[in-house]
Amino acid sequence: MENKMNIKDMYQKVGNLNEEIQNQEDGGKDTNIHNWLYKMAFEKSPDAMLMLEDHRIIDCNESAVRYFGYDTKRELLKYMPYELSPVIQPDGKPSMVKALEMIIQAEKNGNHRFEWVHKNKMGQSIFTEVVLTLFPIENRSVMSASLRDITENNKARLALVASEQKYKQLFHNANDMIFLHATNGDKGPGKIIEANDIACMKLGYSREELLKMTPRELNTENMKKFVSRNTEKLLKERYATFETVLEAKEGDKISVEINAHVFNMQGKDVVLSVVRDITERKETMKLLGETIAYDKLKTEFFANISHELRTPLNVMFGTLQLLELYLQKGNETMNTRDIERHVKRMKQNGYRLLRLVNNLIDITKIDSGYYEVNLQSDDIVRLVENITLSVAEYVESKGISLEFDTDIEEKVLACDPDTLERVMLNLLANAMKFTNPGGMIKVNVHDKAEHIVITVSDTGIGIPKEKLNSIFERFRQVDKSLTRSHEGSGIGLSLVRSLVELHGGTITVESVVGKGSSFIITLPVKSVKDKTQEDHPIGTEKQSKIERIHVEFSDIYSINI
Ligand code: ADP
Repeated sequence: MENKMNIKDMYQKVGNLNEEIQNQEDGGKDTNIHNWLYKMAFEKSPDAMLMLEDHRIIDCNESAVRYFGYDTKRELLKYMPYELSPVIQPDGKPSMVKALEMIIQAEKNGNHRFEWVHKNKMGQSIFTEVVLTLFPIENRSVMSASLRDITENNKARLALVASEQKYKQLFHNANDMIFLHATNGDKGPGKIIEANDIACMKLGYSREELLKMTPRELNTENMKKFVSRNTEKLLKERYATFETVLEAKEGDKISVEINAHVFNMQGKDVVLSVVRDITERKETMKLLGETIAYDKLKTEFFANISHELRTPLNVMFGTLQLLELYLQKGNETMNTRDIERHVKRMKQNGYRLLRLVNNLIDITKIDSGYYEVNLQSDDIVRLVENITLSVAEYVESKGISLEFDTDIEEKVLACDPDTLERVMLNLLANAMKFTNPGGMIKVNVHDKAEHIVITVSDTGIGIPKEKLNSIFERFRQVDKSLTRSHEGSGIGLSLVRSLVELHGGTITVESVVGKGSSFIITLPVKSVKDKTQEDHPIGTEKQSKIERIHVEFSDIYSINI
């Protein structure tokens, strides 16, 4: 019957009651009507309300029953407050512990407002704003709990927090360095406002240090001058991509690519720069460039070597044809001297092919680590002198004078005579190839105590300054054209350098175009105990040496004949 009462009737009844209470002599001791009124206010409140005593729920209103998704009061009253919550609250505290804390707080202050997560009958979470109000009744601790559903508000707030966290994670865990910095108009970039963890790590500065700096200070001395120009372009176009080099706190240089955007933050232009470390990319590009260049060089080498292989073969076949013709026609057309000349020419070109093949084989052996140097104790002065004298006849036959000079009589050191002979013959052949008749070739041996210095100088055409560094490189020739005036494959000096290095020595060159060149070999004076020159049978050595001179000088004869 009370439930059917409308608001107007209720006010009427309350008004009458007040009057009645004031008129009563006992000052309103009759509280039946009050009880009923409070009960109604509690029962009909649109907010879910619970009455708690000793941490238990002793009463609840209809809204509370609906709030938790139950059908009857009795169902709801079975639970302790914390049982209407998930085990753990969002701050990580167990609901049971936290509920107790909240109640104690309300007992202390008379009331307490806080946020809580409840769980309805279906197990769904309800974000709730709770107000606990204490009613001290005769030493009893009764309190009301008014619950307001703030799930919707919280969803938006939680989404905001989540997206903020997501961006924070993205910002700090990105692979690239990210900076937010102010702008300073014409004066370039302003102070750094924010920098991510990667930026701190890569540059070796703490965040506090970075926030006191401007991006200009992070550039290397060389790149600083471009910063203003880049900033100007950036402010004009609002977006820019450029490359620069940053310097870390410890001095390491980092090549970077910067993608920068300008945007307005609270009325001011700020720049967001995503800075990518491209050191590796740069190195790969450099390597790629080198590989392409080397590949080109190799292609040139093959073109060149084909020419080198074909020329002597052509000469040999041409000579063979002449001899065949002679055989067909009988001996009136050719005398013995002519035959001798043709045979010599064929032999010479055979040697030329052999030299090329030998050099290729040796280069391959050295590259794969299979070239063996037989070090033995030998008198280097005698060795170099003998090699020089052995080619004197050839050199002088071309109208070039040859000189040998030394400042010591004898110096025994660890060397491989055959290998050193290859080295010397190569250098002498080159000197002869590039020196015109009337010129001079000098071979010197100098004693420098710990080292022996062997110099092969000529008064030939010389080598241009810019080519001096590359002549020891594989496949390099100063004049690469197929119509060049001198034959050669461009592997001789590369082989010479490798052979000298196998002795622990070095080779350098000094040259002036039009005046001549000097090749300087420095060999360390070391000793080996087990082998001596006597181990080598002189006769066979002599024999093979002549053969080897033919081979090493084959380039020159083929042209002369
Ligand atoms: P090649 O087999 O072509 O002679 P090398 O490796 O021996 O190859 O020499 C490389 C290049 O160095 C030669 O093509 C030549 O241009 C230059 N060169 C070598 N020695 C001399 C020299 N004594 N005088 C001038 N140029 C030289």
